[in-house]
Amino acid sequence: MQDTNPAVHHQQSPPKRADVVIIGGGIIGLSTAYALAQQGVSVVVCEKGEIGKEQSGRNQGWVRIANRDPAEIPLMLESFKIWEDLSRDAGEPTGFVRCGTLSLCASDKQQQQQEAWVRTAREFGIEARLLTSREVAQTSPGSTLDWQGGLFAPLDGRAEPGLAPGVIARAAIRLGATVLTQSAVRAVETAAGRISGVVTEHGTIACSSVVLCGGVWSTLFARNMGIRLPQLQTMSTLLRTAPISGAPEVSTKGPDFMFRKRRDGGYTVGYGYFNRAEIVPDSFRYLPDFLPMLRSGGNNVRLTVGRRTVQEALRRTRWQPDQVSPFELHRELDPVPSRSDFEHARRNIARAYPAFKNMQVQQVWAGMIDVMPDAVPVISAVDAVPGFFISSGFSGHGFGLAPAAGRLMADLVRNARPLVDPTRFSFDRVRRRASP
Ligand SMILES: Cc1cc2nc3c(=O)[nH]c(=O)nc-3n(C[C@H](O)[C@H](O)[C@H](O)COP(=O)(O)OP(=O)(O)OC[C@H]3O[C@@H](n4cnc5c(N)ncnc54)[C@H](O)[C@@H]3O)c2cc1C
Repeated sequence: MQDTNPAVHHQQSPPKRADVVIIGGGIIGLSTAYALAQQGVSVVVCEKGEIGKEQSGRNQGWVRIANRDPAEIPLMLESFKIWEDLSRDAGEPTGFVRCGTLSLCASDKQQQQQEAWVRTAREFGIEARLLTSREVAQTSPGSTLDWQGGLFAPLDGRAEPGLAPGVIARAAIRLGATVLTQSAVRAVETAAGRISGVVTEHGTIACSSVVLCGGVWSTLFARNMGIRLPQLQTMSTLLRTAPISGAPEVSTKGPDFMFRKRRDGGYTVGYGYFNRAEIVPDSFRYLPDFLPMLRSGGNNVRLTVGRRTVQEALRRTRWQPDQVSPFELHRELDPVPSRSDFEHARRNIARAYPAFKNMQVQQVWAGMIDVMPDAVPVISAVDAVPGFFISSGFSGHGFGLAPAAGRLMADLVRNARPLVDPTRFSFDRVRRRASP
């Protein structure tokens, strides 16, 4: 994680009005604000804590197209274009570089999965290929294990989660956006059935559109509005090493470890074998939505009972605009890392790549991930409340997608021609009649 993100223009007193209010100062909300500000739209971002301190500052930093759902591929291709120019346009480095990604295969099943994705890539004209065991050794050198093969995506890259959200926030501010920190949005206001404003903990902002980019909090916010957004949360633990020499440049994922090089020469390392999900009231509420994913073994989730089980069972799920909301009580979600996942990651990577054997671990942290039943985000208007939009549920891969997701949402809000076909990201696909 490492906090290299310089503080963003700290402002709490809300302006009286704006065209658009964005709930959430993660990379999705900030990219949306940046895209809107580029179009001359007046926009305010309200962040309950500080910029980029939840998922957006805690992730691995992979900017990848490899193994994406075909629905996301056109959007990811657009995202690459924006990442490419972002540092120059914003005047500060995001750390984006093309380093390629390699997904190692240790079994026939993995090899077949990667072969299937290479066929998908071909349909989109994307350069990606299956490597032989020998080519793997050349592309990601230094492994003492004999890999069966691997999927190599040379287009892919990496960026710094400790930098990018702040860079995008400052770029948006320079274009006229307002970014409020320590400013939770408690509720929206409507007039004649459509959005007319938001109520923040510091006062009301009149506006005609609201975009909910609340990450793992989006479901709770939507529920208080009577809107059902079936997202669940998983947790992932990462560690950061001091600079290591002789380790690969290419971001590499094995069956039970993953790593990418950082700007400082160190590595961000994860376990990646499975995701932990604590059983909470939402697990039961949204079980029917997630059953197909659980049955197919997708997202490789391990269910546990823990602190969140109790916390969320006791948490208030309804409140009035004049009452303190759960968002003000949790400024930054900072989950306790899993000791066992950390140990597995450390052991497995050292076994596969001896360059990591004597690595100096400088930081260990965890992050909560917002997951949709089909692992594809919602980037959509909510027809039941004109003027209300959702961009959430990025299912563990929204960092790379964010610049284009922001652009697409800006198009939807402005009712302009969308950057890509937004049908697959529609809110309607997840809507059910059951209670929120
Ligand atoms: C450990 C880990 C590894 C990952 N690795 C990768 C990766 O390698 N590549 C990749 O592409 N993606 C990765 N991801 C996923 C990626 O980080 C997320 O998809 C992306 O950051 C989501 O951004 P966001 O803005 O939607 O959410 P967040 O960054 O969580 O931001 C949401 C913000 O909304 C604020 N908020 C919520 N409710 C309110 C409210 N009512 N009022 C005001 N503010 C509110 C929160 O405080 C928060 O700051 C990873 C995630 C994790 C946790």
